[in-house]
Amino acid sequence: MRLSQMLFNTLRDDPAEAEIPSHKLLVRAGYIRRIGSGLYAYLPLMWRVLQKVSQIVREEMNATGAQECLLPQLQPSDLWQESGRWETYTKAEGIMFALQDRQKRELGLGPTHEEVITTIARDMIRSYRQLPVHLYQIQTKFRDEIRPRFGLMRGREFIMKDGYSFHTNRDSLKQTYQDMDRAYRNMLRRCSLKFQPVQADSGAIGGGVSQEFMVLAEAGEDEVLYTEDSQYAANVEKAVSLPAEVQPSPFTEYKKVETPNTNTIATLCEALGCDATNTVKNVLYQAVYDNGMTVLVLVNIRGDQDVNEVKLSNELTALAPEYGAKAVLALTVPDPEAQSKWAAKPLPLGYIDPGLGDEYITQQENLAPKFLRLVDKTAVELKNFATGANETGYHVIGANWGDQFVLPDRIVDVRTAKAGDLAVHDPTQILQTARGIEVGHIFQLGTKYSQAMNATFTSEQGEELPCYMGCYGVGVSRLAQAAVEQSYDKNGIIWPVAIAPYTVIICVPNITDSQQMEVAEKLYQDLQEAGIEVLLDDRNERAGVKFKDADLIGIPYRLVTGRAIKSGKVECVERATLASEEVAIDDLVSVLQERIQTALNA
Ligand code: ATP
Ligand code: MG
Repeated sequence: MRLSQMLFNTLRDDPAEAEIPSHKLLVRAGYIRRIGSGLYAYLPLMWRVLQKVSQIVREEMNATGAQECLLPQLQPSDLWQESGRWETYTKAEGIMFALQDRQKRELGLGPTHEEVITTIARDMIRSYRQLPVHLYQIQTKFRDEIRPRFGLMRGREFIMKDGYSFHTNRDSLKQTYQDMDRAYRNMLRRCSLKFQPVQADSGAIGGGVSQEFMVLAEAGEDEVLYTEDSQYAANVEKAVSLPAEVQPSPFTEYKKVETPNTNTIATLCEALGCDATNTVKNVLYQAVYDNGMTVLVLVNIRGDQDVNEVKLSNELTALAPEYGAKAVLALTVPDPEAQSKWAAKPLPLGYIDPGLGDEYITQQENLAPKFLRLVDKTAVELKNFATGANETGYHVIGANWGDQFVLPDRIVDVRTAKAGDLAVHDPTQILQTARGIEVGHIFQLGTKYSQAMNATFTSEQGEELPCYMGCYGVGVSRLAQAAVEQSYDKNGIIWPVAIAPYTVIICVPNITDSQQMEVAEKLYQDLQEAGIEVLLDDRNERAGVKFKDADLIGIPYRLVTGRAIKSGKVECVERATLASEEVAIDDLVSVLQERIQTALNA
C-alpha cells in the first residue's frame, strides 16, 4: 500500500477523550476514530490488525476441531425469556440494547449468544452420536456498558470470538475446556502478549467453573491475586486466602461504652485500643431481585475484612428462590435517599449492632419484611469482640455470639482476599497483586441453558438428557488494543510482528530524487512478491515527518532509501529497539524473511 493513497492522518497531540497510552496512540496514529460513546471506526490500519488477530484466533480454534459459523445479531426476546435472562440483561445493568420491530415484537442486539446457540442445539441435536460439537463465530457484539471507556477496551460495540460446545457428559466438557485453555494460551503467545490465566467468577453467564485470560498491564481494569510459586492466580472477584490471625481480645467483660466519632473501624480501634480483628462490623446492603422484590441484607464480618460484592451477589442469587425470584438485578449500599424509602426510623449508621431489629423496616409491598442476615466465616469464631451498640456514638465490647447476639444461621464466605494475605494452598506463600486486562474467558456452563431451554439428546441407553455446555470468549478488539498497552515507547506503538498491520515500511526521504524512488519502488515490488506486507511512504513530506510517523504507527521494520543507496544498501531500522544497520539491497528480502520468521517463532 502507498501511503500517498491512503486515508491517513496522524495527530501530534493526545486526544482529549483518551486516558490510557494505548487509546491515545491508536487515535493519534490513525487506527481508530471515535464516532460516539463506546463506538469506534476501525480505520484501514486497525482493520488489518483485527483481521490478523482474528486469523490467529481462527487457526487455533480450527485446530481443536471447532467449526466457524455466523449467528444473527438481532435476537428475539422469547429466547431470552426462556433462559430467564431477558429481565437481567435488559433491566439489571441494562447491558442489552433492546428494541421493537414494526410488528411490536421485542428484540435484543446480541451481547452474547448462549440463547441462540442453544435453540439451534435443541432443534438439531437428537442423539449422543452427534456429540461433542463445538461452533464458534467472530462477530460484533453490542453491550450498553455503564462506563464505556479506554477506546476499544470497553466499547459498546466490539468484536468477539465466541464459541459454544455441547457434550453428553461433564468429562467430555472438561476435555474441550482443556483444549480451549491450550488454544487460548497459544493464541496469546502467538500475539506476543504477556498473560496470566486466572480463576474467575462466572457472573451472569452462570455455570460454575471458569477461567479468565489476563493480559498484564497497569491500565487493566481487573485486579489479579497470585502467588510466586505459580500455583495460584485468581481474579480478586473470585480469590480466596487465609485471613490474618485474630489478635487476643483485650476485652474481658461485656459493656456498653461511649465512643464518639468512631464510625469507621480505624477510629474505633484507636479509641478502644484494640485490633481490627477484635471487632465485628455490620454492613447493610439492598438487593433488588428480578421479580421486583427488595431485600435488605445485613452482613456481619470481622472488622479488618471487606465484603466482596461479587461473592455476596452470588450468595443472594442462590437465595433468590426464597423470594420467588431467579436473579439479582442490583446490589447497593443504600444511601440516605434509598433508606428513606423503607426505614421505619433513622438507622444508627456506623454504630449498627449485629442484631439490628426488623422493626427498622416498614411493611410494604415488594419489600421483604425481615433482614436477610448473613455472617461471614471470619466473624463466627470471634470471642469478646467489639461491635456497634445500635446507638450513635456507642459501641459494645466483650460481646459474644450466643450471649448478646444471635449468630445468623447463614454462614457464608463473602470476604475480599487481598494482597499480603496468606495463600490457602500453602500458607508460606503470600498473595501478590497485579493489574490485568481480561481478553478471554472460558466457562464450563453445565446444563444451565440446556435445561432451561430444553436442549436434550438421547443417550446410548435411550435416555433423554440435557446437553452439557461450555462457552468460550475472546475479546478480539480488546486484545488488539491490549497488545499496544503492553508494547509502546515515547515515540509510538511497537506492534509485535504477528499482528502488525504491515511488517515493513519503506520511507523515501526525498521523493523528487529519482534514484531513491527507483530503489524504493523495486524494494516495494520485491517484498510484495516475497509475501511480505509492505507500506511505501511516498508522500511529499520531509524525511523527519516520515520517520516520526513510521515510529508512531509502529511498523516492525523501517527501510530508508537514503544516502546508503549509493553503495547499494538501505538503512534498516528495527522499531522495537530502534537499532539501525545498513543491508545490501540484494540481500534485503532474505534478511527480512529470516528476521520475520524468528520474531514469529519467538
Ligand atoms: P468485563 O468483565 O470486562 O466486562 P465480561 O466478563 O463481560 O468482561 P465476557 O462476557 O466473558 O466478558 O466476554 C468475553 C470477552 O469479550 C471478554 O473476555 C472481553 O475480552 C471481551 N469484552 C467484554 N466486554 C467488552 C467490551 N465492552 N468491549 C470490548 N471487549 C469486551
Ligand atoms: Mg462485561
